[in-house]
Amino acid sequence: MNSNVEEEAVAPLLVDSDLIDFRTLAEDAPVMLWLTNSTGENIFSNSIYKNFIGRENVEKMGGTAWFNALHPDDQQYCLDTFSDAFQTHKAFNMEYRLRRRDGEYRYILDRGEPYIDRNGKFSGFIGSSTDISDRKTSEDELKKSHKELIQYNHEMSLINQLNSYLQVCRTLPETYPVISHYADQIFPDWAGCLYLFNENKSLVESMTTWGKSSIKSDDIIVPDDCWSLRQGKEHIALDVENRLSCNHVEHDIDSYTCVPIIAQGEMLGMLHMEYCGSIEFETAEEKERYFDSRQRLMIIAADNLALSLVSLKLREALKHQSIRDPLTTLFNRRYMEECLQMEISKSARSGEGLGVIMADIDHFKKFNDTFGHDAGDSVLTEFANLLTDSFRNSDIVCRFGGEEFIVIMPSAALELVIDRAEKMCKMVRELEVFYDNKPLPNISCSFGVAHLSDNFDKADQVVKFADSALYKAKHAGRDQVMLYTETERKEG
Ligand code: GH3
Ligand code: MG
Ligand code: MG
Repeated sequence: MNSNVEEEAVAPLLVDSDLIDFRTLAEDAPVMLWLTNSTGENIFSNSIYKNFIGRENVEKMGGTAWFNALHPDDQQYCLDTFSDAFQTHKAFNMEYRLRRRDGEYRYILDRGEPYIDRNGKFSGFIGSSTDISDRKTSEDELKKSHKELIQYNHEMSLINQLNSYLQVCRTLPETYPVISHYADQIFPDWAGCLYLFNENKSLVESMTTWGKSSIKSDDIIVPDDCWSLRQGKEHIALDVENRLSCNHVEHDIDSYTCVPIIAQGEMLGMLHMEYCGSIEFETAEEKERYFDSRQRLMIIAADNLALSLVSLKLREALKHQSIRDPLTTLFNRRYMEECLQMEISKSARSGEGLGVIMADIDHFKKFNDTFGHDAGDSVLTEFANLLTDSFRNSDIVCRFGGEEFIVIMPSAALELVIDRAEKMCKMVRELEVFYDNKPLPNISCSFGVAHLSDNFDKADQVVKFADSALYKAKHAGRDQVMLYTETERKEG
């Protein structure tokens, strides 16, 4: 509501002798016009004005018809503006709601001008009233769409930020806290969950959740239990009544949406969102508009997640290929050499020991010649599994080449390294390998151990030292562990 008593003195429009002529002219004017006397009583309103309020009302209530048609919330404001104007005798504007004869409240802008009699005495106000409802509505619409535009820009900027973090994630688990953090900000009135397919595509599993309330959807879902996964498109379930619910949600769940995450035709998972806000919508259209805009945003978010997740999976696969040996899935030699440099520097700084075990299967050529290359491959795979199971996750187990393997043991004392190698030697002897459903004969393996403690000056040769210990084990009759010692090092 605006009101102002205009500061500058305004030249009076009329003097009272002109009023008779004015009324004749004003009666049929195409704008609402009115007159008051010096005490504020309405003494004239024109035809269009009476039609607006309703002729019966004007006849019934006379001068108070206008006041009675005012919106109750605006009555005091209008009285105040009037009493101000009658004290100052200055022109004024005021905006208020007035009930039209059909009962609808319309926004009105009044402009009042003082008029004086022949003696220069203040005689009242003459005014016009304009229906400005349409202008107000378009102003409100404009404000609303401006607000929506700002919000849209904000949401898009959050999605861009999410994308840029996802691009630098190295593994899928690294993405989960990032996704939750941004989902919370992009959808403040929603709780949600990211589901991803398991390896054989039989189930989707909840990977991360967000939101103020807990999710009313199962952690693990069979794809047939979700309409969005069945159809490959979003499933929107709004009001509890009259809707189709998925089997994976609880019956009393509020409005929810499932959006499949699909990239390059491959379904990766599903974005599940539950409304948990308490927004008070003034109209049904406003509510519809809100849910429509949220659903559009969820589809945009799911599309962005799909692209980021698929490129991450690709990067993970490439990384896996570049650092792993395809037969045994152990780390390859190149990766081991990179890690070794890093582990040597770490151990040198921390002063902790570092062990290297080199293993070479005995008489493997003969084994291959006798049982075939494929049987030999099965032995290599089982041997690799045994190695992986026998060492800590922080140890680096790698296939050095052919039937040779290396284990790097950071932060390990010499005794522990020897103990592990001895145990391995025994376990290899007992290792059972089946090929073509038949057991293969047992194998044996020779081990060379080198250890760095305070002797880091020749650290870059530690693999060579382990190799020379291995050579000793072979010459001593195989199937045993040999340690590279200081004396050999000096001789070397
Ligand atoms: P030693 O006890 O002295 O180590 O004898 P060896 O026969 O194991 O040693 P040698 O280096 O002469 O032979 C290694 C054999 O390992 C040769 C090759 O047939 C076999 N080999 C290397 N890579 C693979 C592989 O990927 N699969 C299979 N099946 N055999 C492999
Ligand atoms: Mg060899
Ligand atoms: Mg060998």
